[in-house]
Amino acid sequence: MSSDDRQFDFDFIVIGSGFGGSVSALRLIEKGYRVAVIEMGRRWAPLSFPHTGWSIHRWFWRPKLGLRGFFNMRFFRHATIFHGCAVGGGSITYAGTLLSPPDRVWDSGSWTGLADWKTEMPQHYQTASRMLGVTQNTILGPADELLKKTAEAAGSGPTFYHTRVGIFQARDGEAANQTFPDPFFGGAGPPRATCTACGGCMMGCRYRAKNTLDLNYLYLAEERGAVVFPETKVVDVKPIAGASDGRAGYEVSAEKSTAWVRREPRKLTSRGVVFSASSLGTMELLFRLKEKGSLPGISGRLGKHVRTNSESIIGARVPACGEDLSQGIAIGSGVYIDEHTHIEAVRYPNGADLLGLLTTFLTDGRPGLHRVGLWIKNGVLSLLRHPIKTLRLVWPLGWAREATILLCMQAIEGHIEMRWERPWFWPFRKMLVSRGDKVQTYIPKANEFARQFARIAGGTAMSMLPEILFDVPGTAHCIGGCAIAGSPNRGVVDDHHRVFGYHNLYICDGSVLAANLGVNPSLTITALAERAMSFIPAADETAWNDAAVSAAA
Ligand SMILES: Cc1cc2nc3c(=O)[nH]c(=O)nc-3n(C[C@H](O)[C@H](O)[C@H](O)COP(=O)(O)OP(=O)(O)OC[C@H]3O[C@@H](n4cnc5c(N)ncnc54)[C@H](O)[C@@H]3O)c2cc1C
Repeated sequence: MSSDDRQFDFDFIVIGSGFGGSVSALRLIEKGYRVAVIEMGRRWAPLSFPHTGWSIHRWFWRPKLGLRGFFNMRFFRHATIFHGCAVGGGSITYAGTLLSPPDRVWDSGSWTGLADWKTEMPQHYQTASRMLGVTQNTILGPADELLKKTAEAAGSGPTFYHTRVGIFQARDGEAANQTFPDPFFGGAGPPRATCTACGGCMMGCRYRAKNTLDLNYLYLAEERGAVVFPETKVVDVKPIAGASDGRAGYEVSAEKSTAWVRREPRKLTSRGVVFSASSLGTMELLFRLKEKGSLPGISGRLGKHVRTNSESIIGARVPACGEDLSQGIAIGSGVYIDEHTHIEAVRYPNGADLLGLLTTFLTDGRPGLHRVGLWIKNGVLSLLRHPIKTLRLVWPLGWAREATILLCMQAIEGHIEMRWERPWFWPFRKMLVSRGDKVQTYIPKANEFARQFARIAGGTAMSMLPEILFDVPGTAHCIGGCAIAGSPNRGVVDDHHRVFGYHNLYICDGSVLAANLGVNPSLTITALAERAMSFIPAADETAWNDAAVSAAA
C-alpha cells in the first residue's frame, strides 16, 4: 500500500454484511487492507431475538414504521421476496441450510465458459463449508420423519437426505444447549452452545447454535480491525472528482437507517468499494446511482435475469397434532421428487404463528380467476362438510406447532427483470418494479406431494395465499440482476466480480448468480465471494490500479 492510500478513510468499503459482504471483509483485512462494513440493519444479541412471531417490531424490518427487526418482505408483481437485514445479513434469519448445487448450473447462464468452474469451485465450496461449519443434520424432528414417509410412499424414498447445515450440534450422547469454547477456529472465534432443536433458526437463534456470520466471517474480520457501521444505509457512491472511472477512489455517503429526522449523514472515502447489499439491495442502489449520475457507466444489463430459484411454498397443517412439528432444525431434510424438483421440510418455532395468516387450503388449477374460483369453492365445501376442522386450519394460533412448510425449488431456467420505474400506484418516485413473464406458482407434482404428506400426517395440505389470490410466488432466494458475464453487453460484472467500466468496484452477493441453483444459495454466494477475493493481491504486493481494473470498459 502506498502512502498515497492513507488519504482515504479506508482502503475498501463493503456495503452490506451478509454472505458476500462478510467474506469480503475478512479476506480483505487478512490481505492487509483497512476495511469498513456499512450495514443498514441492527446488531443482534442472542437474547434480544423475539420469542414469537407476534413481536412484529423485533422481527420485521420497516424502520419508518418503527419495526426494527431483521426480516423483510417485499411485494412485487412477480414475486413476494423474503430477505434478511441485520449485522450478519440474511444469516440472522436464514435456516442454516448450506447445499452445493448440481454441476450443471455452471453450464447455463451468462457465466458459462468464463472459467473452469467445475474444477475451480470445489476448493472454494470447501473453504466456505469449513468457515460456515457445515455438517450433516443429525436432529430429525417429526416433520422430517413425515417427509421421509411421504417420499417412500411417492417412490422417491431413496432421495431422502438429511440437510447439510451450519448449526453446532451436540455429539451422540451429549446433552443439548451445552456451552463450549470456540469449536470452529482453534479458539479464535466466540464460545458456542449446542442446538436445542427448538426450530427457531429463522426467528434468530437464541442459543448461539446457528453459525451466523457475526459468529464466523464477520466476527473474525472485526477481531482483526474491520470497522462495522450498523444501522447505517449507503445512499450514494461516486468516483472522486477527476477520475470518473473510479481510479482515484470513491466517496461513499451514508445515513442512519433507523432515523426519521436526525439521519446523521456521513461521507467516507475509500480506494475500492464492494457492493454486498444482496440481490435486491445492490440492484436498488445501483439503479439509483446510475440514474442520479454517480455511476452512469453501470451496464444496461442491470436488473436483467433476476431469478427466484423457481420456488413454490406449500405444506400441510395437522390440527390437534399429537406431536410438535416445530421441533428440529428449521430445514432438517429434503427429497428430490424428480431430477429438477427438490422439496425441503421447513418449520418455525412454537409460537411463531403469524406466517400462518398467509397460508390457506392447497388449491390446484390454472392460475388466475379459475384458481381463485376453485379456492372459494373448496373453502365453502370444506366449511360445510367439516366446519371445525376447516376453522382450525385457518385459525392462526398453534400454526407453527401444527404445520410443516414444504419448500419446493427447481433448477430450471426462468427469470424476471427488475426495472427502475414509477409504478402506476405510486407515481411520485421511482422504485424497483418487476417485469417479464409470470413465474409459475403451480407445480402439479409438488402439490400432489403436499397432498400425500397431509394424508400421511392426518392433516390438510396448504398453499400460500398470495400464490392463489394473486398468482404471485413467495421466495427467500432472490438472486441475479448483476450477473457475471464476459462483457457489459451480457452482465454487470466480470468473472472476478469487477464492475465493468470501473476500477476497484466489486459486487459480491447473490446478485451475481447467473443461473437458478435449485438449492438454497448461501453456500454458493459464500464460495463465489471466496473465489472473487482470492484474485485480489495482498495490500503490500501491488499497485492499486493493477489490482482490479475492469475487464471491459
Ligand atoms: C427466512 C429465510 C430463510 C432462509 N434460509 C436459507 C437457507 O437455509 N439457506 C440458504 O442458502 N439461504 C437461505 N435464505 C436466503 C439467504 O438468506 C440469502 O440468499 C443470503 O442471505 C443472500 O446473501 P447476500 O450476501 O446476497 O446478501 P444478504 O445476506 O441478504 O446481506 C445483504 C445485507 O446488505 C444490507 N443492505 C442492503 N442495502 C444496503 C444499503 N443501501 N446500505 C447498507 N446495507 C445495506 C442488508 O441489510 C443485508 O443485511 C433464507 C432467507 C430467508 C429470508
